[in-house]
Amino acid sequence: MEDTKDLSRRSFFKFALAGAAVVPFILKASKSFAADACPKTAPAGKALVSSTEGMGKTLQYVTDSSTSKHPKHKAGNACGNCKFFNAGKAEGGYAPCTMMGMKYVTNCGWCSSYSAKA
Ligand code: SF4
Repeated sequence: MEDTKDLSRRSFFKFALAGAAVVPFILKASKSFAADACPKTAPAGKALVSSTEGMGKTLQYVTDSSTSKHPKHKAGNACGNCKFFNAGKAEGGYAPCTMMGMKYVTNCGWCSSYSAKA
C-alpha cells in the first residue's frame, strides 16, 4: 500500500514538473502569435500614416498588405517584416516607420518602399 502512495505522489510531482517546464514555451508561442496578429485598434496618441495623404499616399501605403494592387507587392510582405518597421518601439501591433517620418504603421500594412529585414 505504501508503495502505491509513493508512486502516486512521485507521478504527481513528475507531471507537475513537466507541466511547469512546458508553460514558458506555451506563453512564448502565444506571445509571438499575438505579435503577428493584425491589430484591431491603433495606439492612442500616436501619429498614424494615412494612405490618402502625404508619404502614405505617395508610397501607396495600405493598412492591409493583402489588399495592395502594387506590382512590387508579394504575398507575405508586410510592415511587420520590413526593415523600416521599428519593432523596438512597437505598441499594440503598430510601430514607427523610418520611411514615413516615424509615423506609426500597422504590422499588417505595406508600401512601395518595403524592404525585407535581413
Ligand atoms: S517602409 Fe516598410 S514599414 Fe514602412 S510603411 Fe513601407 S512597408 Fe511598412
